[in-house]
Amino acid sequence: MNIPADDPRLKIKLVTMNGELMPLDDAKISIMAPGLTFAATVFEGLRAYWNEEKQELFVFRMEEHLNRLLDSMKLLRFGEHPSINTLREQLLENIRSNEYREDIYIRLQAYIDDWGSMLAKGPVSTSIVSYPRPRLNAFETGRNFAVSSWRRLDDNASPPRAKASGNYINSRLAGMEARESGYDGAIILTAAGKVSEGPGGCIFIVRNGVLITPGVTSGILESLTRDSILRMALETGQAAETRDVDRTELYIADEIFYCGTGQEITPVISVDRIPAGDGKPGKITRAMQALYDKQVRDIAPENRDWRTPVYAS
Ligand code: PMP
Repeated sequence: MNIPADDPRLKIKLVTMNGELMPLDDAKISIMAPGLTFAATVFEGLRAYWNEEKQELFVFRMEEHLNRLLDSMKLLRFGEHPSINTLREQLLENIRSNEYREDIYIRLQAYIDDWGSMLAKGPVSTSIVSYPRPRLNAFETGRNFAVSSWRRLDDNASPPRAKASGNYINSRLAGMEARESGYDGAIILTAAGKVSEGPGGCIFIVRNGVLITPGVTSGILESLTRDSILRMALETGQAAETRDVDRTELYIADEIFYCGTGQEITPVISVDRIPAGDGKPGKITRAMQALYDKQVRDIAPENRDWRTPVYAS
């Protein structure tokens, strides 16, 4: 395979498969794995942030990500699997053995392996891959979104609360439609026509100085970034509420942003070509970005339990 010189894969020394460290090319799964054919796979995406002054890498909200992985496995009725303590140790060991001293992304996956039917509960295999991932340019510039013609999955069909691979067909369809139509991203509505979320992140709007985001029963993944933003709003006296959001509120909102581990806090500067506010990243969006950056990098003292130091622990 031809890999470009700046591909983050080239910086990976080792990946973890079922607890064992090995080169990426050695980590293989069976083509008959139910995790592949029937999407019996759940995963997490985490980020760890480098603090130059402290010479330390901090994993953001690691415990909550691990707990969400366990919840996803429970929802998909996975059988015997590694404990949270084992996964925590493996995750930290994985990062340490790669000796990263920059911002990274970590993908943790659990899937039904080997050979089995759609209903197989095991064997459950796990993998951990970490690699350098700098902040997106869109953090500064913002992005143009479109309301998708696809509707969000329903809790009674393919529950978005589980971070399950199968759910990402819905995300892919919406994301592809947006991209092929010349937009940077999508906002997906629920079957009832209310705002749900984007393909890989949650949506906040600002109206009259109040931060507003759909509730956890709106077909969203219970995002840890969303949760962090709501907590930071509370701590700084920024008014915030969770409630149903109508499509037309997107068109008259003063500000909009998209949030998730990967996107962090990405300003949305237009929806369906209608500018959000004055079409530039908004004041409250910028304020939340600044607070978020201080939290993830361990610059601000609040919420110490959100950050796990990699090399000191
Ligand atoms: N919704 C979806 C569908 C996602 O894939 C993600 C990314 N994990 C999020 C929301 C954001 O979740 P988090 O803030 O926990 O990364």
